[in-house]
Amino acid sequence: MIKRAGVFLLTLIFVLCAAACGGGEEPKTTETPATEAPATDVPATEAPATEAPATEAREAYPIEENTGYKSETYPYLVRTPSAVWYLAADDIALLGEEAYYDGLYAILEYAEADFADAREALKGYIFEEVQPVNIHTDFCGHEDMAKLPTNGYFTNGTISLYRGWAEAADVLLHEYVHYLTLNRAAPSTAGNYWRESVGEYVSRLVCRNRTADMYYTWGREDQLSEIEAEAKQYGFWDYEEERADTRKLTFLYAQMVLNGDIVGHEYFCIGQKTIVRTQEIQDDPARQDLMYSEAACMMAYLVEAYGRDLVFSNWNSSVMQMEDAFGKTFSELYHEFAEWNAEQCAQMGLITG
Ligand SMILES: [Zn+2]
Repeated sequence: MIKRAGVFLLTLIFVLCAAACGGGEEPKTTETPATEAPATDVPATEAPATEAPATEAREAYPIEENTGYKSETYPYLVRTPSAVWYLAADDIALLGEEAYYDGLYAILEYAEADFADAREALKGYIFEEVQPVNIHTDFCGHEDMAKLPTNGYFTNGTISLYRGWAEAADVLLHEYVHYLTLNRAAPSTAGNYWRESVGEYVSRLVCRNRTADMYYTWGREDQLSEIEAEAKQYGFWDYEEERADTRKLTFLYAQMVLNGDIVGHEYFCIGQKTIVRTQEIQDDPARQDLMYSEAACMMAYLVEAYGRDLVFSNWNSSVMQMEDAFGKTFSELYHEFAEWNAEQCAQMGLITG
């Protein structure tokens, strides 16, 4: 995994993109080379100790006993309008009750608003009625999944969260977009390119994604001044809200990829495997070779240049079908995007060099 010394969030985002998410298919672990992603199932972070108790969510969504589905593994559940959260006994024991529930409710304070934003962003392309999604905390006992550089996974209609609350917050909305576009849409997103591009574009560039923003500060109280300094230096500090603007950060990160910063390095691509960014890939990537932020920003370009309807109504297209629909090869579209992304970064005042 690549690192960038002395650049805090930019370091983080490199790891983050490699740890973005999986979804849609069972993981092919044999295709995934060893990476420096945490190999244990112990969460890397704990719930924020300094956060005020999230009383509104606690009152609105009480803990219930689970008397049905997998109640031995998940003895408790919480129902919200958009989800049924299955709470694993092992995870509660691992973190301790207080930290476990603090983490859960910190996320629940924002998750419903985020989920509603995603449904709105996809309106017209997903079913009008969206049943609650099942979400499992699976921080313990999933060593096979924890070997993958993914913080969450969507499969069989269920979101599984593998690494603890902070990481869960980072991928939650992305996984929920998978649920909407795989299980609550016809046609559904098909293939890694469309699944991951739509998931990352909608969750990080269209929606405000309040839960993911927490990832950048969760458990990092001692590094907040460093984060702020870096965000100001590179142009992605939001002075009004006093936070790192993670949407801008996504564009900045895509630009770093486009600039060639990761050539020769390993990364987890949207094709769901860890590969090396060769010069050949850099010059002319195939669809599945894109990094998560790169894919998100390319989709933002396609939506701006060709219209949301053309993009979303083709989210199950093969390479050839995509070429027919857009009237250009993927390679041509990619190079158009590359020029556009640099312009966007310049307009946003991002320091990309
Ligand atoms: Zn995904």
